[in-house]
Amino acid sequence: MRYVSTRGSAPVLTFEEAMLTGLARDGGLYVPETVPQMPADEIAALAGLSYEDAALRVMRPFLGDSFSDAELTGIIARAYQGFGHAARAPLVQLGPNHFLLELFHGPTLAFKDFAMQLIGQLFQTALARSGQRVTIVGATSGDTGSAAIEAFRGLANVDVFILFPHGRVSDVQRRQMTTPSEANVHALALDGDFDDCQARLKDMFNDFAFRDAVGLAGVNSINWARVLAQVVYYFTSAVSLGAPHRAVSFTVPTGNFGDIFAGYIAQRMGLPIDRLVVATNQNDILHRALASGAYTPTGVTPSISPSMDIQVSSNFERALFDAYGRDGGAVAQLMDALKSGAGFTISQGALEALREVFASGRASEQETSASIAATFKATGEVLCPHSAVGVKVAGDYLGPTPMITLATAHPAKFPDAVEAATGQRPALPPRMADLFERQERVTRVPNDLHALETLIRERTGR
Ligand SMILES: *Cc1c(COP(=O)(O)O)cnc(C)c1O
Repeated sequence: MRYVSTRGSAPVLTFEEAMLTGLARDGGLYVPETVPQMPADEIAALAGLSYEDAALRVMRPFLGDSFSDAELTGIIARAYQGFGHAARAPLVQLGPNHFLLELFHGPTLAFKDFAMQLIGQLFQTALARSGQRVTIVGATSGDTGSAAIEAFRGLANVDVFILFPHGRVSDVQRRQMTTPSEANVHALALDGDFDDCQARLKDMFNDFAFRDAVGLAGVNSINWARVLAQVVYYFTSAVSLGAPHRAVSFTVPTGNFGDIFAGYIAQRMGLPIDRLVVATNQNDILHRALASGAYTPTGVTPSISPSMDIQVSSNFERALFDAYGRDGGAVAQLMDALKSGAGFTISQGALEALREVFASGRASEQETSASIAATFKATGEVLCPHSAVGVKVAGDYLGPTPMITLATAHPAKFPDAVEAATGQRPALPPRMADLFERQERVTRVPNDLHALETLIRERTGR
């Protein structure tokens, strides 16, 4: 199994190389050269398996020779053992033909744990084998950072630096990043928004001297291994509702397009998915792009669903690559236009290809809040604001095909928004109850590439 860049001019890599590299050297994102097919009988055979066994079967073909079956079995077991629910990704029913996939039972209470816990174990296995040391730098709008820290804290061959927008993450999110005491963990509060964090991270990856000196590795949602980990729960949930004999649809609260792109991969592998619905908050560039073809950044407006507050959606590049017939040159041109600030218009052919798979919708702040309140009243289920965006948008697409809406975070991560909507303050699970008593450790940093690189070099001694 080989991986190619969406911009067509970076080296072709193995799974392990693509995972350790993150962003391709031509600025593109790695995707599999061909998507392995899972025939209907193999999909049907996932029924009744544990999450871990299903994960092994779904991911195995993407890994080539990078990890043995025995290694992978151990990696998956260690990745999901810390989850607070035996099913890992349980489904609950919200209404006729509408289901909620609870992806928030991991150690940091957000779906990102599914990918990050796995990637932590994959990195550890690969680095221990080669004796290499890497510096992981991640940018986060809140949940990625804590998930990365939780996955990499204390690992011998890794330093982890997380950039988050100062003052723009929730108290729970910040404390999850600033309270781990391991020396290899560095929480950096950047003076800027999430797009600034993401832009500085990309700049570091494009500074090859720095990249090579510190052994820079990325675990942001552009890392292919993260996308792959997320493919699994599309299979397990669809199978429990009757796939491959019955098609299902998904609605996915979307920011960087990593989670929903995993659904697209599941569909390409052969899982019968009717529709993948992109649900955005008021930062609706993806909804506008799919509606009009114009991908035009307009600046970020902070919302009550902060993990979706983006104006540039990194993984959308992967969908564009396929929509443009895998023409890396064409994708590179679009991304250059984007970098110059103007945005771009998706060609008619590509737009039609995207619309064959993806539908979209948007929830305003008021609609998000109303969605939390209405769902609580009707079902007793307490949604986080991101999941509430999904449930609101899914409402426009309910029908005879079962709809699975992804619940991406635990409500207790966003207690203010939930309390405002329901009148009740959601409690943290017992294993996290002392979060607000723990000591914080954080460094405030300017939105400046040179300053960041200097700090990382000093801290790693490289
Ligand atoms: C990251 C995140 C999202 C958005 O997921 P993408 O893969 O970036 O589209 C949605 N909800 C929550 C809670 C998140 O942490």
